[in-house]
Amino acid sequence: VRKGKTPEEVVKKYLQKVKSPPEEVSPASDCSADESVKVLQTNVGSVGLFQDCTICMEPLGGPSGYKGPGVGPVSKAESVGRLAQCGHQYHFQCLVAMYNNGNKDGRSVQYQNQNQVQTCVRVRSPEADPDQKSVEKPCEEERENNPTSCLSLQCPTCKTIYGVKTGNQPAGKMEYHVIPHSLPGHPDCKSIRIIYNIPPGIQGPEHPNPGKPFTARGFPRHCYLPDSEKGRKVLRLLLVAWDRRLIFSVGTSSTTGESDTVIWNEVHHKTEFGSNLTGHGFPDPGHLDNVLEELRAQGITEEDALV
Ligand code: NAD
Ligand code: ZN
Ligand code: ZN
Repeated sequence: VRKGKTPEEVVKKYLQKVKSPPEEVSPASDCSADESVKVLQTNVGSVGLFQDCTICMEPLGGPSGYKGPGVGPVSKAESVGRLAQCGHQYHFQCLVAMYNNGNKDGRSVQYQNQNQVQTCVRVRSPEADPDQKSVEKPCEEERENNPTSCLSLQCPTCKTIYGVKTGNQPAGKMEYHVIPHSLPGHPDCKSIRIIYNIPPGIQGPEHPNPGKPFTARGFPRHCYLPDSEKGRKVLRLLLVAWDRRLIFSVGTSSTTGESDTVIWNEVHHKTEFGSNLTGHGFPDPGHLDNVLEELRAQGITEEDALV
């Protein structure tokens, strides 16, 4: 959907090379001579090829049992995919079919991550265009009506998630515009003001205390970036971070000590314009690079901004 990647390309990103799958494999054989062959093949990296693909229940050494639409032909060499992190293997076409299915049918994809269930949500691609007054809204309805559809794949055996990191930021709004004033330390350009607004609400299953209310203090929160090339790049990546629910979280504020409240996540923002009373103002020569580093730690890089 995003970035024009085909499902095959997305799935391939999550795979390891499986070395030399055997030309023809007879998984039904039960004689002991074949057993030793099985062990040998296992040792040269063909682990699991004698097993069934647990998506289609057909042997991995043979063709995928998937017969539906949306999955093209595949060469013998690429017929089996081994997921890079957990090592579980499936027919490549079965993985593509599963990916396509997860993106279309509206099933909720939930997964365990650090003891919290997180929900992958469909998000809208942002256009960072700070020259025009522009608004970025999270697609609340889409999120509720079709809470799946992310660029990720989940291993059906061990539930490992392959794909983008998403957070648990509550629903809200991110807006930005250019203001015709310069920030301290950036005398040669105008500035970008970002306005985040998140209302209080009820915690979901991805939050520390599901079902309990959370507060939202100090919103709308105004933040500033220089309207320079690098500042605009940071803005584009922040829009991606917003889409992935990574700008805010729900937890205990280290400033106020209040629990069950909306807090900044791990990406620093400058909330003071002309002064620096809180330490969250300008000038701060390292700020943009720091933010880029923090975004990288959240899995967001320049490539993500190429909408
Ligand atoms: P927090 O205090 O748990 O801190 C999380 C991260 O945000 C830390 O990295 C911290 O350095 C950073 N941070 C803290 N204060 C910041 C600020 N003013 N500007 C930019 N970054 C800041 O997170 P939190 O509770 O979300 O942050 C506290 C801030 O929230 C307050 O300074 C204020 O801006 C706002 N707030 C306002 C009210 C209000 O009633 N007006 C109440 C509570 C919080
Ligand atoms: Zn299969
Ligand atoms: Zn697995």
